[in-house]
Amino acid sequence: MLTEPIITSDPLEQAASLIKHSKYVVVMTGAGMSVESGIPTFRGEGGLWTRYGPPKMDGFKQFRDDPVGWWQKRINQQMDAHIIELRDALVAAEPHTGHHALAGLEKVGAVHHVITQNIDGLDLKAGLKNLTEIHGNRSRLRCIQCGQRMSLGDFVPIEPPEPCASCGGSIKFDTVMFGEPIPADTLAEARRQIDMATCVVAIGTSASVRPASGLLWIAKANGASVIEINPNETKLSPISDVIVRSSAGSALNSLLNLLKICEETPSGAANEPTQDVRSA
Ligand code: NAD
Ligand code: ZN
Repeated sequence: MLTEPIITSDPLEQAASLIKHSKYVVVMTGAGMSVESGIPTFRGEGGLWTRYGPPKMDGFKQFRDDPVGWWQKRINQQMDAHIIELRDALVAAEPHTGHHALAGLEKVGAVHHVITQNIDGLDLKAGLKNLTEIHGNRSRLRCIQCGQRMSLGDFVPIEPPEPCASCGGSIKFDTVMFGEPIPADTLAEARRQIDMATCVVAIGTSASVRPASGLLWIAKANGASVIEINPNETKLSPISDVIVRSSAGSALNSLLNLLKICEETPSGAANEPTQDVRSA
């Protein structure tokens, strides 16, 4: 009878094994996570900046200098072409099977928290519960003074929003602009999660946008193991313990199948057919 641990050269099996034996697993997702939902990335092949060139990095300064003027431009559709393309893709997007599989991994207890750099809200829509949206969510507004957030609901900007009812501050989209600090409550929660992590899984991120990407290096320095899921090499690759060169959707579905078997199979019942958790 086989009593020794299975040694495998398959990165997906290695990743599943690391996740299974880790006490607290934190996933960090980036724009690559939502490519299969039709939302382009910024960098890399097909990325918005690759096609339109890099944008100006002073978005938050422009908003703070003239909030009403900023909203007027928005209302009159005077945005950069890459913003219009991103907005239209965000409006049309639905979660893909990878988003559902990630929610499934949370449900079976394999993943404890997700920090997403995405603003698309697709993780929530797929049913994920423990989530920090470090760059905000496009379906909310936020006061830049007191930080209060409000659901966008059916709000369509036909005129600039009224100042904050609580403090009189300017209201912007909740999404973090270039040059804008991450709201302190969100950054503190992301850091708290990273400090608890014994394993981090970076999915579809170029690991180049600070301070979010820096959290991955903090986790590594804390002793957490690092798994990268990305079809391409990134800055994170050299410090990753396991690298899965695959799209998010395919890797997450495979991980869910592997880890769901671990979760559900009492020893001795190894080869039962697996069932997609979404239909359970
Ligand atoms: P990035 O654009 O810098 O890099 C995207 C990464 O995704 C690349 O490393 C690429 O190799 C990888 N990738 C491409 N297709 C993939 C797939 N099918 N599966 C897995 N990985 C794939 O993205 P970033 O690191 O998240 O940083 C960019 C910033 O852009 C973030 O702050 C994010 O807020 C913002 N952004 C968000 C969205 C969104 O909400 N969906 C979309 C575009 C940009
Ligand atoms: Zn306020």
